[in-house]
Amino acid sequence: MPASRTTPSNETPATTGRRVRPTFLPFAPPSVGEDEIQEVVATLRSGWLTTGPKVRRFEEDFAAFVGAPEALATNSCSAALHAALHVSRIGAGDAVITTPLTFAATAHAIEHVGARVVFADVEPDTLNLSPASVNEAIDRATRAGYLVRALLPVHYAGHPCDMQSLESIAADRDLVVVEDAAHALPARIEGRIIGGQNVRSDVRTFTAFSFYANKNLTTGEGGMLIGPKDSMSAARAFCHHGIDRDNGWRRDAVHGMWRYEIVDAGFKYGMTDLAASLGIHQLRRLPESHKRRRLIAARYLAGFDGLAELEMPAERPGTGHGWHLFVVRLNLDRLRIDRDRFLAELEARRIGASVHFLPLHMQPYYRDRQGLRPDDMPVAWSAWPRLLSLPIHPGLTDDDVDDVIGAVHDVCRTHRR
Ligand SMILES: *Cc1c(COP(=O)(O)O)cnc(C)c1O
Repeated sequence: MPASRTTPSNETPATTGRRVRPTFLPFAPPSVGEDEIQEVVATLRSGWLTTGPKVRRFEEDFAAFVGAPEALATNSCSAALHAALHVSRIGAGDAVITTPLTFAATAHAIEHVGARVVFADVEPDTLNLSPASVNEAIDRATRAGYLVRALLPVHYAGHPCDMQSLESIAADRDLVVVEDAAHALPARIEGRIIGGQNVRSDVRTFTAFSFYANKNLTTGEGGMLIGPKDSMSAARAFCHHGIDRDNGWRRDAVHGMWRYEIVDAGFKYGMTDLAASLGIHQLRRLPESHKRRRLIAARYLAGFDGLAELEMPAERPGTGHGWHLFVVRLNLDRLRIDRDRFLAELEARRIGASVHFLPLHMQPYYRDRQGLRPDDMPVAWSAWPRLLSLPIHPGLTDDDVDDVIGAVHDVCRTHRR
């Protein structure tokens, strides 16, 4: 092994495997094409850098893609989640039910409007919010004196939540649904794309997407909000300092752009034309890049068939997985090493892997403020030490995928009980 080819850790690549990659395989590098680069350059030359014509075009293209009448581009998914809760007038004294198996931004959005984060546990197969657990969490929060106003499910790894059940809970209890679709572009339920039509038309639903660097579509930083027609202009104002863009002043030829009305204490949450320049072309390539993700997932499933040390991710009948993440669960009773060591062993074989996520109810901020214990969310907590995300992105070649499969087999072979 040449000395110059080092792994990110200082470990020497393991020699037990048949083949160690000559170069490190990164977990989730962004995939940006020449079209994006040319569009950014053209935007720079156009003189319009902030929210302008490219953002409008990206919003229109995105809305058409998911089949929604309108879309609002933001500078992050976090911003879109915040806007959805804000325009639903959720605040102090209210509670929102969400999953612990997610990124910080999901629950933080609830904190930012002053409402109470109430965690419900996940389902054992998909690791998505469990409808039964949601019902229990609603009762628990109600007994504690909160008014439960919304559900905030996350389509974990890109697998759609059981929206049929969650929306019927929302309809029965008059709740808003805010979907965190950061992983779910494009994901489907019975052929319907997430962000398009609801399962039920009587539930107010918002959907927030992320275009962070490692997501299925990237604008560097960025997000998109889909929501009920009658909430979109309030959301638009909230994302631009609370400035009402639809008021008469703006269209008034005498007063022009400098005269406007502030109708809300909003935030600076808009997308730039530079970011939208990336998004326009990333969106055009999305069907192709998602197809590649599906093929990689299929190659993994075939390559790990019969490997008893691993539990494969589920894909329920009638759903279309977004395949943002390929999360396996280690069968730790069959291994002499824990998950962290498994990850280090992959890294020593020059394979980048990751973990999604340490359940939020055990992060100090939520754990300590709410006095939560690990077993309050038993399914999420028992999954946590077993979770391992393998690389899945359109830039992977079949040989790369086979290297991952080979390395995983090798680690299992070396460390099985
Ligand atoms: C990435 C991510 C977010 C945050 O997205 P940003 O665009 O970075 O704000 C929210 N939720 C989940 C589940 C994520 O993975």
